[in-house]
Amino acid sequence: MKKTYLLTVLVLVFALALSACGCKHETWIDADCITPKTCTECGATEGEALGHAWTDATCDAPKTCETCGETEGEALGHAWTDATCETAKTCETCGLTDGEALGHDWQDATTELPKTCATCGATEGEKITTDPRFATAATAEVQGKWVCEAPMSAAELGLEGFEGDLTMQIIMDLGNDGTFGISFGIADEEAFNSAMTDYLVKSLYAEFEAQGMSKEEADEAMKLAYGMDVQGYAAAAMSGMSFGEIMGMADIKLVYYVEGDEIFLGTDWNAELEPTKYVLEGDTLTLSEDITGTSADSTVFTRMTE
Ligand SMILES: [Zn+2]
Ligand SMILES: [Zn+2]
Ligand SMILES: [Zn+2]
Ligand SMILES: [Zn+2]
Repeated sequence: MKKTYLLTVLVLVFALALSACGCKHETWIDADCITPKTCTECGATEGEALGHAWTDATCDAPKTCETCGETEGEALGHAWTDATCETAKTCETCGLTDGEALGHDWQDATTELPKTCATCGATEGEKITTDPRFATAATAEVQGKWVCEAPMSAAELGLEGFEGDLTMQIIMDLGNDGTFGISFGIADEEAFNSAMTDYLVKSLYAEFEAQGMSKEEADEAMKLAYGMDVQGYAAAAMSGMSFGEIMGMADIKLVYYVEGDEIFLGTDWNAELEPTKYVLEGDTLTLSEDITGTSADSTVFTRMTE
């Protein structure tokens, strides 16, 4: 009996020594998600671990503990819907976008349909109202810009003695609304402008010479009158002038419609519209009439690519 008592005491003392060990638990490590508050000296613990504070997985982050940053599983990934005319590629879950909206693929209004998006069918405005003789469908093939390069002689353009390329460009613009435009240009506008300046200098000196004046006297006279010598005057006169402006060729505005193999042209719908036969072969449009002012039998146009 006495022996058992002693053993019990010894066990108690031993247990006390183990647990108390004289440690006063003076420094604690705070509890975290997985470990309770713990004594730095003896490792004794108090209370419970806090447990993770999970936030749900999102498109680009897995399920994550707000406290310690631990993750579980994978991010969901975005649930993309394709871009449309008006909306960029968008995640249905989080609303994130990638890139831009495609934009509408607008087709011009016709006499049959308003301006219409070829992709989504959206429309804008009204269909074209014009003279009933003009129908978009009948003119669809010939619509657009056409160019004819017509080599002109200096004499034809009233520029005797001009040295330079005079390949004139006649541009027809067959509209989708019954308008028919004709404008004039030159293949190399810059080269033409420079040659035209030289031509003007030559012509001016020739005129002064006819009055018995030397080049030096001509320059002096021009300086007195305009503050520039002949060269300066010519350059200023030609500066920024287009071929059409220099030649006094204004743009022409007509109306048209197509019937069979004829284009009917006139100054306006009330005027008498004159037919001109045409042949369309691929990107070549041949008018049976010469509209270049040269002596050709017909005029061949090629489609302009912009
Ligand atoms: Zn301790
Ligand atoms: Zn945590
Ligand atoms: Zn998303
Ligand atoms: Zn669209």
